[in-house]
Amino acid sequence: MIKVNENFGKVQDSYLFSTIAKKVAEYQKNNPDKKIIKLGIGDVTRPLPTPCIEAMKKASDEMGDANTFKGYGPEQGYDFLRKAIIENEYKDLGIDIDEVFVSDGAKCDTGNIVDLFSQDNKVAILDPVYPVYLDTNVLSGRSGKFNNGKYDGIVYMPTTEENNFIPELPKEKVDMIYLCFPNNPTGTTLSKEELKKWVDYARENKSIILFDSAYEGFIVDENIPHSIYEIEGAKDVAIEFKSFSKKAGFTGIRCAYTIVPKSLVAYDNDGNTYKLNSLWNRRQTTKFNGVSYVVQRAAEAVYTPEGQKEIEENINYYRENAKIILEGLKNINIKTYGGVNSPYIWLKVPEGKTSWEFFDELLEKANVVGTPGAGFGPSGEGYFRLTAFGTHENTIEAMKRIESIF
Ligand SMILES: *Cc1c(COP(=O)(O)O)cnc(C)c1O
Repeated sequence: MIKVNENFGKVQDSYLFSTIAKKVAEYQKNNPDKKIIKLGIGDVTRPLPTPCIEAMKKASDEMGDANTFKGYGPEQGYDFLRKAIIENEYKDLGIDIDEVFVSDGAKCDTGNIVDLFSQDNKVAILDPVYPVYLDTNVLSGRSGKFNNGKYDGIVYMPTTEENNFIPELPKEKVDMIYLCFPNNPTGTTLSKEELKKWVDYARENKSIILFDSAYEGFIVDENIPHSIYEIEGAKDVAIEFKSFSKKAGFTGIRCAYTIVPKSLVAYDNDGNTYKLNSLWNRRQTTKFNGVSYVVQRAAEAVYTPEGQKEIEENINYYRENAKIILEGLKNINIKTYGGVNSPYIWLKVPEGKTSWEFFDELLEKANVVGTPGAGFGPSGEGYFRLTAFGTHENTIEAMKRIESIF
């Protein structure tokens, strides 16, 4: 008899975006003449930079010619792209890294990385959180049952107003620590000094930090690390995930990369060490066959001067939206966080309302859709996320409407 992975019975369905979609559809059906503006979803809207498009066209032509046709590529990514990443993302920061694994997404990599680790590990996540880290650990058996809004056995590290969105080091010993900065959903960051505390903790406790840096491209402030490897000692304790999705508009094209330094190890019960770089290589060569040549050429083109210029223009476009949202909310005395080094604005819901009640109010009175904080974890209650990924016109109009109802 075929037995099921019973962890699927444990993991909670994420009703967040489907509930939002249902509520929006229902409202639109009853109010067909209303123009709803969506500032809820974490997807980009600006088109790809021109050099990326040109690179893909050229690569497509190469695929149509027997002399330049490419079949299976290296599972770790083509050298041309890995070199471009090392040069532009790391050498320029003074970081000596060459352990790059190209992939089709940071979502897949942050999810698949659990393959390397024993089920016995204690997992710590931020709360609120990008759900992938939590759900993939539940599905692979690193949690107990869902109980009162939380999974037993998982360590939740609240980031709220009370701690200025700076998570505290866990009181109990944890093994796998997921950090995401600039953060989704809160839009907040950690300084180098704050991040250093986590690196030191991981070194002392022989833990690993799984550092998601998907929003690195949005950083403007000086003292915010663009890579965890800017922190001394991080190469011994951290895996870093980066993506072209938010930085270069690749959410639909799919290209990302993960750094697994050769100095990283995990231990068995007898204290023997295993190099995580070798394990990840083994995992990828077993289960993954690489990113398409055409897409890797597009990613390489991100680093051309024209590519860099267009990316910066697009990110500035989103930054301008974030500013409009921050100013609008300030005008009506709503407290905000994030939105400076991040496309996400995390706002404090006015006293006395839950984040879902605030959602309903914005939808019904302003016809604006955002994301209720409670959908990202128990500590997200009382907060609400707006994104800067809309158009200027819609963002301005949305803020005008929101201001008018308060
Ligand atoms: C969008 C996002 C990613 C990027 O995922 P891709 O699979 O590379 O598109 C990764 N982490 C977080 C927190 C995100 O919000």
